Amino acid sequence: MAELQRLVDSLRSIPNRYRAFTVSPADAEKRLGLEAHILDQLVAAGLPHTAYFDNNDLENVSLYLGARSPRHAAMMCWVRSLRRSLRTPVPHEIRTSATCASSEHRGPCAFSVHPALHPYDTTPGDGNELGRLLVHSSHVPTLIPEHIVALFAELSDVAFYLLPAVLRDDVGFLRTNRMGECSLMARELVRIARQSGLEVRTSYGLIVSVPFSTTHTWAELRIDGVWMPVDLLLPRALHAWKITTDQVWPERLSPRGLFHRLTATAEPLVAHGDALCRVSFSTGIVS
Ligand SMILES: [Zn+2]
Repeated sequence: MAELQRLVDSLRSIPNRYRAFTVSPADAEKRLGLEAHILDQLVAAGLPHTAYFDNNDLENVSLYLGARSPRHAAMMCWVRSLRRSLRTPVPHEIRTSATCASSEHRGPCAFSVHPALHPYDTTPGDGNELGRLLVHSSHVPTLIPEHIVALFAELSDVAFYLLPAVLRDDVGFLRTNRMGECSLMARELVRIARQSGLEVRTSYGLIVSVPFSTTHTWAELRIDGVWMPVDLLLPRALHAWKITTDQVWPERLSPRGLFHRLTATAEPLVAHGDALCRVSFSTGIVS
């Protein structure tokens, strides 16, 4: 109960004007694994609601309670892929596909893929497949030296929360509330590393994982001439959500071989005129 109250207290630091009460109790159970009795407890703990709930609130609750959801299942796969990359790096084939998300869009949709997804096999594939990317990673995850990780001590109390779009890049919100997402945390890591005189950059790319890769933003440090991903927040979140442990994925593990850099900052990887599209990265091991 205390855990649930702390969770609701944290969520309440997100201003109410950023909430949209669109999720019905039936939807919360079906999609996010949150049963009616949990919703009752959330309401009793003071979670803002109407007859419906805010999707962002419930996504966070679902993660922190370890409820079964597609997101939870995807993250279990990341841990499996990390374990695999710790043993033997294997090449992966990533198939990018897109579907039109606009109900009004008439006629055939023209999609174009970001140049970073090249070299690219653009042979037309099945259905909505736009092309294939081969990732030949020879990197094995490596521990970042402790004295470097110690430089980021001021970020040790920041917790991962999915945030409404308007707060995702709000550094003030992170500093005040100690809550953030990956891109915000990456920016803070870069700031601190720069102040410490380290060579650092942000990266946007994919967490390469079977059966689906996922876009992600992280920081990279150049250590002994090699760019190493540094992501303290993701393993911290995966520990809090009981998806993995500190033994398997410590915060100071650089997940090289799991992260594949595409660009410096987040940008659309598939363009579709002015209309929205849903992009997926179906991924398999090449044997
Ligand atoms: Zn379309």
